[in-house]
Amino acid sequence: MSNLADAVAEKARQNFEATVSKLSDYLRIPAISCDPAHFADVARLASVIASDLEALGFDNARVLSLPDALPSVAAERMKAGPDKPTVLIYGHLDLQPVKGEPWRTPPHEATRVGDRLFARGAADDMGGWVSHLAAITAWLEVAGELPVNVRLLIEGEEEIGSPNLERYMDAFPEAFASDVMVLTDCENPSTEIPGLTVSLRGLAEFDLTCAAIESDAHSGLWGNVVPDVSTALIKLLARLVDDDGRFAHLRVEVPEAWRRDAWNVPLTNDVIRVGAHLLEGVDPLPDRGRPPAEWVWRQPAVTILTTTLPTPDRQKNALRTAATATLSVRIAPGQDHGQIQGLLENLLCRDVPGGVQVTLKSRKSSSSSWLYTPKGPAFEAADRAYQKAWGRGLLEVGVGGSIPFVALFGRRFGDLPLILNGVMDPETGAHGPNESLHLGVFQKAIAANVHLYAELGALGRTLVR
Ligand SMILES: [Zn+2]
Repeated sequence: MSNLADAVAEKARQNFEATVSKLSDYLRIPAISCDPAHFADVARLASVIASDLEALGFDNARVLSLPDALPSVAAERMKAGPDKPTVLIYGHLDLQPVKGEPWRTPPHEATRVGDRLFARGAADDMGGWVSHLAAITAWLEVAGELPVNVRLLIEGEEEIGSPNLERYMDAFPEAFASDVMVLTDCENPSTEIPGLTVSLRGLAEFDLTCAAIESDAHSGLWGNVVPDVSTALIKLLARLVDDDGRFAHLRVEVPEAWRRDAWNVPLTNDVIRVGAHLLEGVDPLPDRGRPPAEWVWRQPAVTILTTTLPTPDRQKNALRTAATATLSVRIAPGQDHGQIQGLLENLLCRDVPGGVQVTLKSRKSSSSSWLYTPKGPAFEAADRAYQKAWGRGLLEVGVGGSIPFVALFGRRFGDLPLILNGVMDPETGAHGPNESLHLGVFQKAIAANVHLYAELGALGRTLVR
């Protein structure tokens, strides 16, 4: 089996240029799901992919649609036999917008610079699922069949938060029916270390408003005797953070063994500097004895998204009626929305500076945190596959953000092995200008997929779990 998989991996290597060119074709279609002007592009890309899948040897390649939703693509190849596991491969075809971003190369024309391929969507997530197409193509060319049954599900709305994915799951349950799921829209901690995502932070958003007077009041006449809502708001916001500017509350205790491993995650100051585009002379926050990976994956964080403090164009010498800040709190794995809300109520709505009226309103946009234990034969198989393709096994990583599709798969299919991987790395710059795919990572991802199918196929259906 191993010799055959090696031959297939070699074939995939020979096909690599053709794979990059296929990927570049898909990246030319600006399938931006948040912009109605591009809905037709999402639909066009979906139908291009569906017909490509058919030509590739998939059965039942189809564009799935639902009212008031952008389409998804589904296809399957179930010819490995009933004793073999069925693997669901999930990816998404839609893109983030590029408007107003300083791109050095045309965002919708894949451009190779050194060992990276620059284009919107190159790594998030076109390269993710195309790495599976490449592996599947090579298997069919060399062996004539796959060692596992495969279903492919390519979503068209991931970048707008998968608002209809659960409806798709309900409407087309057969498109998701599987024994193990490979969800390819996550990041590797470096171009040398493959990542297995096992946790997500959740998200909670709140509007915090301070109000004190009915209409603006002359600051020369009333300053010092009437409360200023702007400074009250700022003083309240300062309660949220410690002297480093970090969220100072509800710190999570992580297991000491986990922390020891997390120190090995190559999220160094240099990586942070490059990845987050720090200005010359600005340092990452001090670690205070916790690995950076813990800070971004396992601890809660707060960001002020907007304020309605007076803006330069509204300058006048007056006390204002109200000031609002929108807070975004990343919820640590293991915490929930209610804990965050309770904390903020205690912290922000009591002993208010100047006695101003404070309201805290929870926004609709929220998502749960997620924590997963990757144990069992499927994960051991994945580890063997990655050993072969990357020269080392998967490192358990987290995601500091909230990926609604992950939380949803976790909730609906959490009893299945969920292998969350992808082709992004810290320099990918997903969702920003100059997004890029590291071609070495892409190549290793393809090889890992080749071996993963072989390893899962060898386990057989009943042994996968
Ligand atoms: Zn994505």
